[in-house]
Amino acid sequence: MKKGYFGDFGGQFIPELLMPPLLELEQAMETILPTEEFQTRFIGMLKENVGRPSAITYCPNLSRDLGLDLWLKREDLNHSGAHKINNTLGQGLLAKMMGKTTLLAETGAGMHGVATAVAAAMLDMKCLVYMGATDVVRQSPNVNRMRLMGAEIVPVQSGTKTLKDAINEALRRWLSDQETTHYCFGTAAGPHPFPTLVRTFQQVISREARQQFMERNNGALPDVVVACVGGGSNAIGMFHHFVPDPSVTIIGVEAAGTGEPGCDNSAPLNLGTNGVLHGMKTKLLQTSEGQIKPSHSIAPGLDYPGVGPEHAHLHDTGRATYVTINDAQAINAFKTLSRREGIIPALESSHAVAYAIEHRAELKGKSVLVCLSGRGDKDMGIVDSIL
Ligand SMILES: *Cc1c(COP(=O)(O)O)cnc(C)c1O
Repeated sequence: MKKGYFGDFGGQFIPELLMPPLLELEQAMETILPTEEFQTRFIGMLKENVGRPSAITYCPNLSRDLGLDLWLKREDLNHSGAHKINNTLGQGLLAKMMGKTTLLAETGAGMHGVATAVAAAMLDMKCLVYMGATDVVRQSPNVNRMRLMGAEIVPVQSGTKTLKDAINEALRRWLSDQETTHYCFGTAAGPHPFPTLVRTFQQVISREARQQFMERNNGALPDVVVACVGGGSNAIGMFHHFVPDPSVTIIGVEAAGTGEPGCDNSAPLNLGTNGVLHGMKTKLLQTSEGQIKPSHSIAPGLDYPGVGPEHAHLHDTGRATYVTINDAQAINAFKTLSRREGIIPALESSHAVAYAIEHRAELKGKSVLVCLSGRGDKDMGIVDSIL
């Protein structure tokens, strides 16, 4: 396999001037990541600050309702309420040990911005968050959280003033500030080495979940592993250690939007075509002329027109299967898990839970392990406005 590629996907489709910081980062992955100092500090932070290992939880009521065994990997129990902190603490510590003083991040709904602000505060670094001007208004609670933890927010006025524009502007800022600044990318996408780096920090999810599941099930593996796919970081973290297990079916869930034919969606693996965006070759929502199409999901964290290249590869090789769940099905799962198990899932994670609900007939009698990527308190406003 070519370096930085997953089959046909990945690579570094970037301006020449971005090569030096990407090379520096790649070298740091080889020289700093494996050191005992990095590993000891990182594992220590995951334990003391994040609260790892996160639990796995059996859902007795919903399992009975659905006629299957439903298990959840509880990334919602992490400090700051989702899986994103696994990545921001890893990249933050790496940047600190590289001698950088500032963490730069893009954010859409604000969750990655918040997780980066947490990491920067913990590591005594500066934090600069690029956010589309539209999102700054829509996501004001997260903007306030970031500011409280010391982050500076830069509203982005270009394009549609949302996530994809924030990524473009943040990459531009990195070009000029690369001496002092690390670009803390938020998902397992973008130019090499980010897809590999982010997976390296998120694979703790499946390392723990696989062992925890086997301990609770007399050494048996789950029949099916499920995760929602935005850019793909919680999913690749949840899948990684199960990929070599041929008996385990791996399901990624993309957001279908409203589900009407031709509607805006966030399902590039199901409905997109091959192309280049944000420095990587992958599957994208684009017109036949290569213009990026607007994406939509009721779950803010899934609303992205591209997907990490490793998922494009797992899709094309058939090792993982990618399905879609629409907004209404996700809301139903949000309510159902809350009512039946007392767990309010993030709307993103609700897409993964919805898979078990909607496909219960074919999953009858099987053990299904779902990555609950985050908690849903942040989504109460969205759900209230719909119900
Ligand atoms: C951001 C987010 C996602 C989507 O991002 P991935 O990189 O695809 O994991 C999913 N769930 C939650 C709770 C999120 O905050």
